[in-house]
Amino acid sequence: MGVNAGTGRTPALGTRPSAPWRNWGGNQRCNPEVIDEPASVEDVVELLRAARDANQTVKAVGAGHSFTDVACTNGRLVRLNRLNRVIDHDPVCQTITVEAGMRLFELNRELDQRGLALANLGDIDRQTIAGALATGTHGTGAELGGLATFVRELEIVTADGQVLRCSADEEPEIFHCARVSLGALGIITSYTLQCVPAFRLRMEERPYSIDEVVESFASTVAANEHVDGYWWPYADVCTLKRANRTDEPIQVRPPFKQWRGDMLFGNYIYGTLVDIGRIRSSLVPRIMRWVAGGIGRSWKVDQSPNVFCARRLVPFVEMEYAIPRDALTDALLRVRELVERGHLTVDMPVELRVAAADDIPLSMANGRATAYLAVHASAGRPYAQYFRGVEEIMDSYGGRPHWGKIHFQTAATLAPRYPQWERFRTLRAKLDPEGRFVNAYTERVLGPPGAAS
Ligand SMILES: Cc1cc2nc3c(=O)[nH]c(=O)nc-3n(C[C@H](O)[C@H](O)[C@H](O)COP(=O)(O)OP(=O)(O)OC[C@H]3O[C@@H](n4cnc5c(N)ncnc54)[C@H](O)[C@@H]3O)c2cc1C
Repeated sequence: MGVNAGTGRTPALGTRPSAPWRNWGGNQRCNPEVIDEPASVEDVVELLRAARDANQTVKAVGAGHSFTDVACTNGRLVRLNRLNRVIDHDPVCQTITVEAGMRLFELNRELDQRGLALANLGDIDRQTIAGALATGTHGTGAELGGLATFVRELEIVTADGQVLRCSADEEPEIFHCARVSLGALGIITSYTLQCVPAFRLRMEERPYSIDEVVESFASTVAANEHVDGYWWPYADVCTLKRANRTDEPIQVRPPFKQWRGDMLFGNYIYGTLVDIGRIRSSLVPRIMRWVAGGIGRSWKVDQSPNVFCARRLVPFVEMEYAIPRDALTDALLRVRELVERGHLTVDMPVELRVAAADDIPLSMANGRATAYLAVHASAGRPYAQYFRGVEEIMDSYGGRPHWGKIHFQTAATLAPRYPQWERFRTLRAKLDPEGRFVNAYTERVLGPPGAAS
């Protein structure tokens, strides 16, 4: 296969995989027929032609950081890791145009070099831009939407091989829907993202009792730009992280102390305790109390990506629900009751975050000020009873599951929870009438293309 004249990079199209594809959490695997690593938009068009001729389905994957089978396929699996460059940067509009396979940490580095940043980020930076956007990835902040709200333009290759540039002015319907698409509308090859001048955040973390958090959560969220809460089951401890913009200089612990806190305690020792809990479940409540009890007050001032994002080395699986913001504390108390009354073994904390309403049809925050409640289980621990119990609670608030995190919903249960569901469905039926971008997950949660839910 030759070097691509436009990009100088060598594509690898139609490779037979030697091993199954697996996701980060280790709970999803699939056996794609072939793997494509295009090095240009033309390669994407070519592989879609080959897929049509061979009657194969196609699935673009990112970094495999979804816990659902959203990225799985037995057809053609398309990795965009060779499409990871900056295409353009507009210093006046503070936008950057990047290829869709770029990882978030690479994007953060490129932005930093240009004195820019994204206004918000989730709590890791390993995902690809396309993968993060496709599932509605979000951070926390009452006034801030998820990452997809930062998209100003995108380029998509549709099932029939058309390359379309989409924005609010050009192909506006595709632009409107494709910002959160589950990969079901086509292969997105680039994005133009709205950025802000690089900024520093002052982050403060401290433990509270769950009652204190329930009492003050609304006012804390109103008074701080970013609030992230973790309730530690069995411990009556809820740690709150607050982060706000500051002009203060960077103030972080010396490298060894940072490593000791974030990596040694936060990952290695914590991971060992989780492993012990998996071998002896009866120890889990004691371990959780011990870990929660060890969390003191801490603070730092750093560039925004270093405050938003952390390394997560302890493998886990997660379910996260978007619910109306004012239901959050009620929902948290019901989850606590579920854990305590049901004598469930829960070895990871419950996370609380918030986001602003947006207008993206498949965004979990569409049309309503949102709170996110996430539950976790370490890899290998049975989670179905816990997650199903939490899901039942979330159902009572019209909860919308994170597309990339475990849930048990179907198109029939989801359609009534999304006011613009029909709009997305109509566009999908038009762009992908033959179901080129279908996989088992989209069949389950969106229905077949063209079918009414
Ligand atoms: C440790 C950890 C922490 C996380 N933290 C957060 C968090 O803070 N906030 C949050 O909201 N989520 C979080 N997530 C979830 C994660 O952000 C999403 O699941 C995200 O989709 C993963 O991105 P990815 O690049 O791995 O994409 P994948 O999981 O590989 O794919 C996700 C979807 O993107 C589609 N896709 C990928 N590339 C393209 C393309 N070029 N064109 C069209 N479609 C495409 C795929 O088809 C698939 O539907 C976390 C996950 C993990 C494992």
